[in-house]
Amino acid sequence: MIERRLARSIQVGGVTVGGTAPVIVQSMTNTDTRNTSATVDQIARLASLGCEIVRIAVPDMQAAQTLAEIKKGSSIPIIADIHFDYRLALAAMESGVDQVRINPGNIGDDDRVRAVVNAAKDRNIPIRIGVNAGSLPKDADAGKSQSEQMVDAVLKEVRLLEAAGFEDIEISCKSFDVPTTVEANRKISQVVQYPLHLGITEAGLPSSGSVRTAVGLGILLYEGIGDSLRVSLSGDPAVEIPVAYDILKSLNLRQRGPTLVSCPSCGRADVDVAALALAVNDRLSKMTKVVTVAVMGCEVNGPGEARHADVGVACGKGRGAIFCKGEIVRTVQEKDLLEALMEEVQKV
Ligand code: SF4
Repeated sequence: MIERRLARSIQVGGVTVGGTAPVIVQSMTNTDTRNTSATVDQIARLASLGCEIVRIAVPDMQAAQTLAEIKKGSSIPIIADIHFDYRLALAAMESGVDQVRINPGNIGDDDRVRAVVNAAKDRNIPIRIGVNAGSLPKDADAGKSQSEQMVDAVLKEVRLLEAAGFEDIEISCKSFDVPTTVEANRKISQVVQYPLHLGITEAGLPSSGSVRTAVGLGILLYEGIGDSLRVSLSGDPAVEIPVAYDILKSLNLRQRGPTLVSCPSCGRADVDVAALALAVNDRLSKMTKVVTVAVMGCEVNGPGEARHADVGVACGKGRGAIFCKGEIVRTVQEKDLLEALMEEVQKV
């Protein structure tokens, strides 16, 4: 059982981040923010997959103003992602966003940060301090490691916000490099109580990027560190959401939808386990119920190896056994395996 670090909690719209809240799944739109309908449609798709908070890039003043319409069409809270120009943060808050993310490396001098803080205070919304390894402040100490430079940048900004009487803070500290991300977040988790948003930035294409993210975030989450996360992959952000849940499900931190267990197959298998697992996965992907389903290649070891599954199939020569919690409940012909298994899944 993972003992999670108890962070302060912040309220991002209707979603609590930190405290005893579950680890929240986030994503980021990749539409042109000025295109309201495309952005609202993408948010709706992300939300339908389980995205709980969405971040939106604010590249210019038109985008900041468009956020008002996007906000009206969004069922989940919105974080405005601000770089370089603090006035965009002010405009985004006027548009009604639920949180702003600023990057200490490029937001400008302390007066500008204070202006953002005062506006956030007035509107009672939190600020995310988001540091990326690739955009550290110009005055970062080059003699220190990258993770130390990231921590310095975060803490400098934290102290600035605290000095302005603001503690509605979330922190993210991301790098492409997994050890750098882990070291920075470990350090920050020890010196402040603010909630931490996790991610491996620019992780890459879905296949390798998912693995990189799972390794990095898996280490931190297992240590109890992390209150929200984003899986940053090149391509359609919808792909990020199931990966995020798979990471959390792997650590028993969240439950969502079916989980497929399938054996790798070996010389004992008499059927094409991979083809059957794919067909089962296709059927399960249309379901939302929390259920663990196993597809195993042989009757000898299958039920025992997948004892933790709610329902499963163990294939034999020309037939297969359907089992529940490791006990065989019926045996059917090979051609009927898929339907018989799904019937049992429906009963769970
Ligand atoms: S369940 Fe059976 S077929 Fe699958 S890997 Fe194990 S022993 Fe091999």
